[in-house]
Amino acid sequence: MQHFAQLPTETVTKWQEMVDLLAEIVQVPSALIMRVEPPNIRVLVSSKSSGNPYEPAETAPLNSGLYCETVMKTRRPLLVPDALQDDAWKSNPDIKLGMISYLGVPVSWPDGQIFGTICVLDSKRNAYSDLFFRLLLKWRDVLEADLKLFDMLDKQLKEREAKIQRLVDADIIGVFMWTGTRIIDANDTFLRILGYERDDLDSGRVRLTELTPPEWRERDVEHWLLELKQTGTLQPFEKEYFRKDGSRVPVLVGVAAFEKGGNEGVSFVLDLTERKRAEAEARESERRYGEIQAALAHANRVTTMGQLVASISHEVKQPIGACVTNAQAGLRWLSARSPDPGEVRLAFERIIKEATRACDVMNHIRDLVKRSPMHTERVQINDAIREVVTLTSSEAMKHSVSVRMELDDGLPLVLGERVQLQQVVLNLIINAIEAMSDVDDRQRVLTIETSQDESTGIHVMVRDSGPGIAPDDIARLFEPFYTTKHEGMGMGLSICRSIVEGHKGRLTVSVNSPQGVTFLMQLPGCEKNIPGP
Ligand code: ADP
Repeated sequence: MQHFAQLPTETVTKWQEMVDLLAEIVQVPSALIMRVEPPNIRVLVSSKSSGNPYEPAETAPLNSGLYCETVMKTRRPLLVPDALQDDAWKSNPDIKLGMISYLGVPVSWPDGQIFGTICVLDSKRNAYSDLFFRLLLKWRDVLEADLKLFDMLDKQLKEREAKIQRLVDADIIGVFMWTGTRIIDANDTFLRILGYERDDLDSGRVRLTELTPPEWRERDVEHWLLELKQTGTLQPFEKEYFRKDGSRVPVLVGVAAFEKGGNEGVSFVLDLTERKRAEAEARESERRYGEIQAALAHANRVTTMGQLVASISHEVKQPIGACVTNAQAGLRWLSARSPDPGEVRLAFERIIKEATRACDVMNHIRDLVKRSPMHTERVQINDAIREVVTLTSSEAMKHSVSVRMELDDGLPLVLGERVQLQQVVLNLIINAIEAMSDVDDRQRVLTIETSQDESTGIHVMVRDSGPGIAPDDIARLFEPFYTTKHEGMGMGLSICRSIVEGHKGRLTVSVNSPQGVTFLMQLPGCEKNIPGP
């Protein structure tokens, strides 16, 4: 790994203080930190002591025979007490500067590469005590710890820079650098999003404040002043920019200042035009789709009701027939030789009762068939079920199905649309009756049970003793248009499920042992049902 990075000024200042102290403690004219910068060796820091001939930033070529060069090459400490008396050092270039004694130790980067040396030099013979040597080694440790920290920060910075560079180059996201309100550089994507040319940028015409429509400016200032100044970053937020042609573009912007509280930084800009268009389209298709559910649900309801017409007409015919019979009886009592007003009154009362019953039945049917807007209320689910069971009782009788109701009286109310919930129960009951129509070897039993569970809410179970469902078909049951019936539409169960889910509930099915299936509708309860007086 190459280490060419510039050391932070704070580090260099600290090292300066260290060498100044070193020269003072050891009492020598010169204490130095040297750095190797091939092909040279440079004086990185030089003590501000009197008689020091070395100027900071001075360089000497490698291979010129300096004491420090030897330390760097051998990676070992070097002590030269008196070069003039030492054949190996007699002609080294430091002597020309008057430095005849030397004590130095190598300083390394964390990966082991040589950084340079820390050393002391004297103009007279000096054997340097062991204490000074140990001091030098300690100072060396401090330098290496600083280098380690610096190296780590440098690596992190490089990684961050590489990431930003990759983003800039990838041209997927708009990136611009800013100083104050001026955009100083940007990638092509950013220019493309806003419809600017690079010339516009170079001429300094693109200013952040003018890019932002007035209604966003206040929020921008708030963001900038509070969040960015304090934390150094702005979490991505949506806003708009003006394009060069004056039109607006919706964008997502994330901002990072180069330094906390700093006046320079980088911003990332994502064009949201496509996403906004897709969102609007999704909303529109959801609306259209909603209209098509509603229409299908209506059609399905009408179909289900069609299947019930025969039974229902019986339900209606019966009270009407009773009305006629009672009216005839009333007439007879009136035309009797001695009319009996008591009997006539009774006949009228029976007529009113029967006519009201017929009316009720008709009203329920009308409610179930008509396309009414959503009407949310607190529903007593047991009552709603009883009504549907009454409506379907003739149909059940026609198919020799015995209906059992096991309803829990203490159920909470359900917040929802009563008619929709009734439609679900109606569908499940009709399906169960139909499923059992071929069963000849056992009783045809339809059980409707309600209960409650603390965690899963209200349970409505519709159980039959029909043929059951093959495991492979279970998953497909709720798919729209899945039917095994000749005349079936295959929409019933999928509509039922969406109704139940629309009530924040779940509709599931399981196969009974030994026969039949159970549909389970789970609904959240809204409050306790307090029985009336
Ligand atoms: P459709 O009744 O028009 O077929 P549904 O969505 O109501 O549409 O039902 C889909 C299919 O699910 C039915 O065709 C039938 O095969 C199956 N199914 C529904 N309920 C039962 C049941 N209780 N027992 C057995 N199969 C059932």
